[in-house]
Amino acid sequence: MQLVDIGANLTHSSFQHDLSAVLERARAHGVGQLVVTGASREASPQALALAQAHPGLLYATAGVHPHHAGEYDAECDALLRELVAAPEVRAVGETGLDYYRDLSPRPTQQFAFEQQLQIALDCGKPLFLHQRDAHDDFMAILRPIRDKLAAVVVHCFTGTREELFDCLDLDCHVGITGWICDERRGTHLREIVGNIPINRLMIETDSPYLLPRTVKPQPSHRRNEPMYLAHICAEVARDRGESLEATAHGTTATARAFFGI
Ligand SMILES: [Zn+2]
Repeated sequence: MQLVDIGANLTHSSFQHDLSAVLERARAHGVGQLVVTGASREASPQALALAQAHPGLLYATAGVHPHHAGEYDAECDALLRELVAAPEVRAVGETGLDYYRDLSPRPTQQFAFEQQLQIALDCGKPLFLHQRDAHDDFMAILRPIRDKLAAVVVHCFTGTREELFDCLDLDCHVGITGWICDERRGTHLREIVGNIPINRLMIETDSPYLLPRTVKPQPSHRRNEPMYLAHICAEVARDRGESLEATAHGTTATARAFFGI
């Protein structure tokens, strides 16, 4: 089994002291390639540096998450444009809208999102998108330019069936995380994950966040890490009513085609 973790925040400080052990455990659990999320002005260059240090194993995205939208200025735009030119950077983002936390004002989030969409239009690379509680505005911004963009993934999808079909109608890929294992807020995903065509479905841990609640025993440190992707894959396979091999093989083929890895 070879899995691809399309969303791992390996620049997070919690991985600073033991990243090589984390990557070793991931490999031992079948995770063959990982895409390191670049989610801020500070972390995006770090994501690229990690990818450059682990050729063939790690790849990167470069972007500014809606939480950090306030840091998006002309200098930041220039930095992202420089980063996305690197061959190890396989997607623009993480960008999008997050009205759940509203850590940045909504007009600021929309501005940073639109700027990064323009970068994706200009460089022709895929997009790595985040949307939470902002579906209508997200669609309103994305829909008019969708046809001009390369591949698009709505990562860590947590929305409704209707929102899922909106994404699929726009020919977006969908990233599923351990959110699906959360009995408090993820059970609806179990019913709709089977509606995602396998050539649009990818899996991710969003490490160190979103430790799957069905991992037993739960590690005492509560840190999620890429090795748990195998657990997420098994849960998704069960919910889709297909074999573990089919989900593993299918999501890996989809991720490799999407990121060109
Ligand atoms: Zn996200």
